[in-house]
Amino acid sequence: MSSEITHATIKGQAMTLKVDKVLHHEKSQYQDVLIFKSTDYGTVLVLDNVIQCTERDEFSYQEMITHLAMNSHPEPKKVLVIGGGDGGVLREVVKHECVEEAILCDIDEAVIRLSKEYLPGMSEGFNHPKVKVHVGDGFKFLDEYKNAFDVIITDSSDPDGPAESLFQKSYFQLLHDALRPGGVITTQGSENQWLHLPLITKLKKDCGEVFPVAEYAYTTIPTYPSGQIGFMCGPGPPQDEERLCRYYNAEIHKASFILPTFAKKALQ
Ligand code: SAM
Repeated sequence: MSSEITHATIKGQAMTLKVDKVLHHEKSQYQDVLIFKSTDYGTVLVLDNVIQCTERDEFSYQEMITHLAMNSHPEPKKVLVIGGGDGGVLREVVKHECVEEAILCDIDEAVIRLSKEYLPGMSEGFNHPKVKVHVGDGFKFLDEYKNAFDVIITDSSDPDGPAESLFQKSYFQLLHDALRPGGVITTQGSENQWLHLPLITKLKKDCGEVFPVAEYAYTTIPTYPSGQIGFMCGPGPPQDEERLCRYYNAEIHKASFILPTFAKKALQ
């Protein structure tokens, strides 16, 4: 095992984290799962060689993907999380007291099991009494629900691998049909405007053909490629303020949809 972990998916560039200690490594039914203690970013979860979250900066991603959707809905009572096996999005969802039920569907029990063991600050989301967990494919799970959820958050891994089906136009249609009237989505998979504009353009087009509003928002986060990651959102104005958040606030909510000119032009 090298003492440095490289985020290997971006052609011509890389970022590395220094490893203090490998805590766990296994091949699950779906992916290579690595958990290591880094020297500077706390404990890190890596799937198929791609960093998923680190203890130091995960709050930026989890808060933004969650509250961009939750705070665009006046009263989200029933919430679905697809993916999100580390538990961080659930932790944010249950900060909203109006939530009556939060269901998480992740394909890989290993991610849930190992996050509970090694990432307690994220997996605390699983302990909440309103939370139910289903292990299975998110695409198939969603197909069983119509008119059922106020908010659906897709916190998936990247498109090459088990999450491939979550990047298809047909997935946006399933999301649409599973929402109650006035329902809101956010999805990861909108990647980085510096690196993935063709993918983001396609996702925005697919999403916009299904939903009346489809906008790209992004957050800053050091351990994702080039320090940013984006979300596809069916946004509304923020309905209320911080909920014990360290990154999200009402101004960031609005600002996250403001794009630099090159990205704005490409996504028009
Ligand atoms: N925040 C991370 C990122 O942006 O890279 C994603 C974190 S979360 C750990 C990603 C989860 O998506 C993983 O636990 C993986 O097992 C799950 N996943 C991948 N494909 C899936 C599918 N088809 N259905 C449900 N969950 C899936």
